[in-house]
Amino acid sequence: MIYLDYAATTPVDENVVDVMCQCLGSQELFANTASSHAAGRKAHKAVEAARDRVAGLINAAARELIWTSGATESDNLAIIGAAHFRRLRGKHLVTSVTEHKAVVDSFHLLEKEGFTITWLHPDEFGVISLQDLEAAITDETTLVSIMHVNNETGVIQDIGAIGEICRRRDVLFHVDAAQSFGRLPIDVRRDQIDMLSLSAHKAYGPKGVGVLFLDSERIRRVEPLLHGGGHERGLRPGTLATHQILGMSRALEIAHQNLAQEPQHISVLRDYLWQLVGVIPSIQLNGHPSRRACHILNVSVADVEGESLLYGMRNFALSSGSACISDSAEPSYVLKSLGRSDQLAQGSIRFSLGRYTTRAELDQAADTFIATVTRLRDLSPNQQSVGSG
Ligand SMILES: *Cc1c(COP(=O)(O)O)cnc(C)c1O
Repeated sequence: MIYLDYAATTPVDENVVDVMCQCLGSQELFANTASSHAAGRKAHKAVEAARDRVAGLINAAARELIWTSGATESDNLAIIGAAHFRRLRGKHLVTSVTEHKAVVDSFHLLEKEGFTITWLHPDEFGVISLQDLEAAITDETTLVSIMHVNNETGVIQDIGAIGEICRRRDVLFHVDAAQSFGRLPIDVRRDQIDMLSLSAHKAYGPKGVGVLFLDSERIRRVEPLLHGGGHERGLRPGTLATHQILGMSRALEIAHQNLAQEPQHISVLRDYLWQLVGVIPSIQLNGHPSRRACHILNVSVADVEGESLLYGMRNFALSSGSACISDSAEPSYVLKSLGRSDQLAQGSIRFSLGRYTTRAELDQAADTFIATVTRLRDLSPNQQSVGSG
C-alpha cells in the first residue's frame, strides 16, 4: 500500500514514538500533573516544559496555550467558546464556506442558537477576498474564523492581511492551522492572530491531542465546552495526557526544525506528480496554481466516476472529492464552492504527500492513475469532453 493521504493523517515520527514510549513506561512521569506530591510535580514540570517549547514555535507565551484532544476540539472551543463569552457584545460572526467541518459545524450550531453568520465564498481558485471579508464586518461582529491552509486543496489564505483587518476593526481572529504547521511558518504576533488551532497527528505526532492558542492580552476568557476540574485555567478540564503532550511537543519541534528544507522538498515532488498526471486530457487542478501548501495536489477529471476512479487506485491510500464526508457520496462542498460541477467534484482525487514520499511511489501512482482514467473513459459512452481541454 502506497500512502498518499498525509492531509488525512501522518505516520508518527520514530523519535516521537520513542519519547511517548519512554513516557508511558516511566516510573517517574506517570503521576497526575495536578497532584501536589513530588511525582505529580515531576509530571507537571515535563508538561510545562513541553508547553514552553510548543509556544516558542508559534511565537506565543506558554500561558497562552491550552492542551486539547485535537484541532476539532480546539476549533469548537475557540469558536463556540468565544462567541458565547461575547454574546452580549454582538451576535454576528464571519467565516468561509471552505472551512473544515470542525469549523463549519461549530458555526452551524451557533446559527441555530440565534447568531448570524456571514459565509464568505472563495474565488474560483479557493482564495477569500480581503475586500469581501472587510465588508462583512459590522459593529455586531465579534469573531472571524478563516483557516490557514485548506485540507482538500492546499490553498493558502492571507492570514497576515486578515489579521491586520480584524485587529483594526477590533474583531477576534481565529485560524485553523492544522494543515499548515510544519509546512509554513506560523507567527501569531506577526499575523495578529488571537486564537489558533493545531493538531499533532497532521504533523507526525500522535492522534488525540492538539493545542489551542489564546492571546492573553486580547482574550480574557472563552466559555468552556467541558466542565470538571480546574485544569487548563478551567477552560479545558480533565487529567492531562502526559505521553500525548510530550509526543506532540517533540513532533512539532521536529516539524518546525524541518521547515527550512522539508516543504521545499515536498513541493518539488508534488510538482513532479502534477507534471506526470497533467498530460491526461481534460484534467483540472483544483485550487490556486501557486498559492498552495507543499503537500496537496487535488485534481478533477471529466467523464470519470469518482468511485470507479478510487477503485482503480485501490492499491494507494488516497482521498476523493467525497471522502471527507464519510459514508456519503455527496460531492465535496469545498470543490463545489470553487465552481466545480457535481461530476467534476466527484471525479476528483486528492494526492497528499509527506516526509516519507518517494519519487518511485509517485511514478507508480501516476502510471496507475493515467491507466485508470484511460480505461474508464474507454468504457464510458459519454466522452464528448475528452481531448477538448
Ligand atoms: C484534520 C483537520 C482538523 C481536525 O483535526 P483533529 O485533530 O483530527 O481533530 C481540523 N481542521 C483541519 C484543517 C484539518 O485538516
